[in-house]
Amino acid sequence: MSICPKCKAKIDSLRQVTTGIEKCDIFFNEKEGWIDWKNEKFESDGIIRIFYCPECDEELNLDDEEAEQFLLEKDELKEIIVEKIKQIEDDKKLCGV
Ligand SMILES: [Zn+2]
Repeated sequence: MSICPKCKAKIDSLRQVTTGIEKCDIFFNEKEGWIDWKNEKFESDGIIRIFYCPECDEELNLDDEEAEQFLLEKDELKEIIVEKIKQIEDDKKLCGV
């Protein structure tokens, strides 16, 4: 399990955004007075990829390789530290500091 550097959540996946081309059929909807889209089909070009944390939706500064490494990461010590920090922060909130 990896840890999001932004929200510190334990995550086992990343959200990936890829650019590409969307093809669709458009119709003029006379009743509504606007265009309707049908049969939308997305074809990824795989060129630009951005990775987001699925928990906080923050953009993570990773390239393909780093994303793979990130998902492979199993740093238990780091997990313990993050857990501790969270615990301390929660305690602080309870004390009203
Ligand atoms: Zn996050």
